[in-house]
Amino acid sequence: MTEAVLKLTILGSGTSTGVPVLGCHCAVCSSIEPRNSRTRCSALLEWSGHKVLIDTATDFRQQALREGIELVDSVLYTHAHADHVHGIDDLRTFTLMTGQAIPVYAARSVLDRIQGLFSYIFSETDAPGYRPRLQVNEVTGPFGLFGQQVTPIPLVHGPGESLGYRVGNLAYVVDCSTIPESSWDLLHGLDVLVIDALRFREHQSHFSISEAIEVARQLQVPRTLLTHLTHDIDYPRHSAELPEGVEFAYDGQVLTVPLPVTGEQRNIC
Ligand SMILES: [Zn+2]
Ligand SMILES: [Zn+2]
Ligand SMILES: [Zn+2]
Repeated sequence: MTEAVLKLTILGSGTSTGVPVLGCHCAVCSSIEPRNSRTRCSALLEWSGHKVLIDTATDFRQQALREGIELVDSVLYTHAHADHVHGIDDLRTFTLMTGQAIPVYAARSVLDRIQGLFSYIFSETDAPGYRPRLQVNEVTGPFGLFGQQVTPIPLVHGPGESLGYRVGNLAYVVDCSTIPESSWDLLHGLDVLVIDALRFREHQSHFSISEAIEVARQLQVPRTLLTHLTHDIDYPRHSAELPEGVEFAYDGQVLTVPLPVTGEQRNIC
């Protein structure tokens, strides 16, 4: 029996502006180091032959071209800030290709916001060729997806909130300034944590780098990727200063973690 594997691809490791920042000529924005070039924050999870997108970032089309993504089976939304949803229209190409609606998962407030921002997508009168077809699912707790449990992690994001997601022993915790007491239990026993770590200085809506490192230390995670990064972070220079087991995420980064074998998969085997 082959072991089930979860594959993570960092589609975008950048904050809402992306890096380089338009009009900025700082050392990082002018850098030729590819890991200093950051598209808007997003990730792709793959298991059992299925591709699950976390957010449709502003740069989704470029990310999909870069990573050769030709189909998406489902989308998990963290929250409805522009940088995490504005690539939504590019799902249209996939739904035109398959004729199938893509299941999307989000908290009720996020679904409401997306349906308000992109009302044409949910309009019954607009021609289907001009809008992606989405099948909307409200997240109210853990749910099954392609033979695995997906666990939403409620997070505080400044004055708002967002949802992290855990699949197997990998958790994606973005965007986040505080992890509520009740969510800590959902993050025990991780192999990999991908966490919002905006910059060195504090910010009201995001963890700073030292705050994110402290979360990883408390959870005793063996491998932590810091993401949603600004142009304050110079990948080669600042990587050397990180503690063992903590690294900066970069666009195109790929890793795999073993997945627990579920009853459903055992039956298939
Ligand atoms: Zn963001
Ligand atoms: Zn800059
Ligand atoms: Zn946000």
